[in-house]
Amino acid sequence: MGSTGMGFESKRVAVVGGGLGGMAFMNAALFAGLKNVQCYEQAHQFGEVGAGVDISANANRILDTFGLQESLLRCSSPQLPYYMQYHSYQTGEYLAHIEEFSKPHARLIHRAHLLDSLKKPVPGDHLHLQKRLAVIDRNTSPDAAPYTLHFEDGTTVDADIVIGCDGIKSRVRRELGFGDSPKYSGQVVYRGFVEYEDLPEETSKLLRNVVNFRGPKRHILCLPIGNPFTQTDRIGDSENWMARADIETLHEHVKDWCPQVQDVIEGLHKGSSDGRMMKQALYVRDPIAKWFEIKESQNNAGILLLGDAVHSTLPHQGQGVCMAIESGIALATILTHWKNDDLHAAFQFYQDLRKPRTDRVTKTSFEAGKLASSDDPDHFSENFNPDALMERMKWIMEYNVLDDLKVKGAEYMDFHDSRV
Ligand SMILES: Cc1cc2nc3c(=O)[nH]c(=O)nc-3n(C[C@H](O)[C@H](O)[C@H](O)COP(=O)(O)OP(=O)(O)OC[C@H]3O[C@@H](n4cnc5c(N)ncnc54)[C@H](O)[C@@H]3O)c2cc1C
Repeated sequence: MGSTGMGFESKRVAVVGGGLGGMAFMNAALFAGLKNVQCYEQAHQFGEVGAGVDISANANRILDTFGLQESLLRCSSPQLPYYMQYHSYQTGEYLAHIEEFSKPHARLIHRAHLLDSLKKPVPGDHLHLQKRLAVIDRNTSPDAAPYTLHFEDGTTVDADIVIGCDGIKSRVRRELGFGDSPKYSGQVVYRGFVEYEDLPEETSKLLRNVVNFRGPKRHILCLPIGNPFTQTDRIGDSENWMARADIETLHEHVKDWCPQVQDVIEGLHKGSSDGRMMKQALYVRDPIAKWFEIKESQNNAGILLLGDAVHSTLPHQGQGVCMAIESGIALATILTHWKNDDLHAAFQFYQDLRKPRTDRVTKTSFEAGKLASSDDPDHFSENFNPDALMERMKWIMEYNVLDDLKVKGAEYMDFHDSRV
């Protein structure tokens, strides 16, 4: 850390959950210079399922700062002309688009490849599998560590700071006393993968772009994930176990839609051995007023939430992972560079920096879901027109969390000798 400060760089930090949020935090911790961070994942291997994610400039900027640009570009889609284009569900004709505003451009990438890229730089002895958190003890003895994490395999670890990156069903969130459950949004997604060679030429050409066929109360969103040159635009058999719905169930919803959508349905059939695909209900949590606790009578130990555990959102702006990446670098930087040993102040600063933005993304993602489909899908409205769409994502993509952090945190952090 800055040589004059106190910070928390040597504290024992336990990260619960090694998904995209937890692994992004591990990269942030390495980059910022936290010295003693361990990640505990419940699964028997690090893995992500569920096809592609769209990582926008606000997060790519951070990933590039970590030095991941080359590795990510190897498995990301090439640069696309637009962030998203909307087409008529009836005719397939172009309606409008959202501009790709800022650099680096959006990367469409299979989740497993993104996780691999994030995992690679993290030393293996910082990552622990088959560690499902059961309970956290708050120790009262002055000789004991502030927290002891108990895992379901009977093992324990001590920690000064616990970061809950354990997703929307977060166990750590429950440990903080929140008895709420994720709420069903009323929305369901079908997720599947189509090979370009299984599409007619014209449709294959069109779907090299991000295309949303905007229909009444439903839409079909096609993302060209991965990079053909490194064959990362294929996903092999890894998704098979997820199949949960007949492709024909999806087809029923879009039977009378344009020929391009029928091509997609046919492509799904060609790529599926059992005629099934993934179906997922979308859940969200309401924003909460406090993201952390500080250990009673010990102001340098605490528990805090990050990623879907605290700022889950509907996926309609593609920001869940992106927000976790932003939150990760913000938190790691604060913990490393904080000028004194007041963890409450550091956590509060983190929450004050992140919460207004993540609450706003959550709210606008809900609205974006409404725009993605419509009762009057082929017509422009006050909110759905080329100009309004161009503006929609601008504030999200152009944001630079490190710049914001440095300005707002100048008084509280010491960036002397910092890589940030
Ligand atoms: C349909 C859909 C499309 C999306 N598209 C995008 C997109 O384009 N762009 C984008 O940025 N975001 C997108 N998202 C959002 C994104 O998937 C999530 O925001 C992101 O995966 C959250 O990461 P996380 O690490 O916080 O949680 P998770 O991915 O849920 O990871 C939590 C991890 O914690 C582990 N865990 C859970 N409980 C325990 C425990 N008790 N002990 C130890 N480990 C535990 C889990 O095994 C898991 O590995 C999309 C989401 C959906 C549903």
